[in-house]
Amino acid sequence: MDIKINKIGVMTSGGDSPGMNAAIRAVVRTCAFHEIECVGIYRGYQGLIEGDFKQMNARSVNNIINKGGTILKSARSKEFMTKEGRVTAYAKAKEEELDALVVIGGDGSFTGAMVFSQEFDFPVMGIPGTIDNDIYGTSSTLGYDTALNTVVEAIDKIRDTASSHNRLFFVEVMGRDVGYIALNAGVGAGAEEILIPEENLGKERLIESLKRSRLSGKSSSIVVVAEGDKTGENVFELKDYVEENLPEYEVRVSVLGHMQRGGSPSCWDRVLASRMGVKAVESLLEGKTNFMVGIKDTKMVLCPIDKAVKGKTDINLELLRVSDIMTT
Ligand code: ATP
Repeated sequence: MDIKINKIGVMTSGGDSPGMNAAIRAVVRTCAFHEIECVGIYRGYQGLIEGDFKQMNARSVNNIINKGGTILKSARSKEFMTKEGRVTAYAKAKEEELDALVVIGGDGSFTGAMVFSQEFDFPVMGIPGTIDNDIYGTSSTLGYDTALNTVVEAIDKIRDTASSHNRLFFVEVMGRDVGYIALNAGVGAGAEEILIPEENLGKERLIESLKRSRLSGKSSSIVVVAEGDKTGENVFELKDYVEENLPEYEVRVSVLGHMQRGGSPSCWDRVLASRMGVKAVESLLEGKTNFMVGIKDTKMVLCPIDKAVKGKTDINLELLRVSDIMTT
């Protein structure tokens, strides 16, 4: 692919995350800085298929750096999963004279970008936007830091009521396949136990651990459970199991749910989004395509988008050990 880039389309796709707006702003302003055109595509791939476009300039993105969600809206598009849908999307991109796409989203969105690029030889660049931090090729995704802060704040509040009533709380946090949020927010909020998909603690060991905790003088406990944890069938089943086996405990469940995705992005996420937006546009202008922008050891890096989609992220074993020691 050796195309001169004059016009870039930017979209947000899949689940929204804090920092997406800051990334849109950075893409739009970097285009303005380099005097190329930028078009906002509404509702992800569905908007591309329907030609739902808006010309953007530096002023179109005033006052959005601090806003959660995405001004371009996000969507999941079944139509784009079909060849027919993608043919229509390509026709719309050509009609609009787009030379490249910047896709802000998770691994599903990157799979879509990769397929689109392979089928039509169309330049794409990914910016990882998801609170789960489950994307290979970057140590941090947009929204992850904000979500951690939201979860820690929520657990701090739950702890107040837990300790006032000597209760045990199971707090379910997002993370179907990976336990980054649970592990980091759990350590940050001083949870007594952290249950993550990568490790099956076993229900018996959970009971033993809670017994030890009570014997050591703790009168209330917080157990952080990632959605995808395999220790029990789900957080409510764990509650029932503990109540049956430790009747002295009064157990409550709090499912934090979608509040973890909302809110004003943290300073880290705003700066990361700004850096990623600049790197995405400037890399395209340098002729680099089909990459995802990431951060590694504080530096901006590029990872081939197929690797970002297929690669597996590893849980931090040192942090797991810290968590074990902290629950002593
Ligand atoms: P989240 O991390 O929140 O799940 P995501 O980007 O992974 O975000 P998905 O719903 O998995 O979200 O994917 C977003 C969109 O990407 C899908 O609705 C679809 O339009 C497109 N997409 C995903 N996989 C493919 C694929 N194999 N082929 C074409 N398009 C795809």
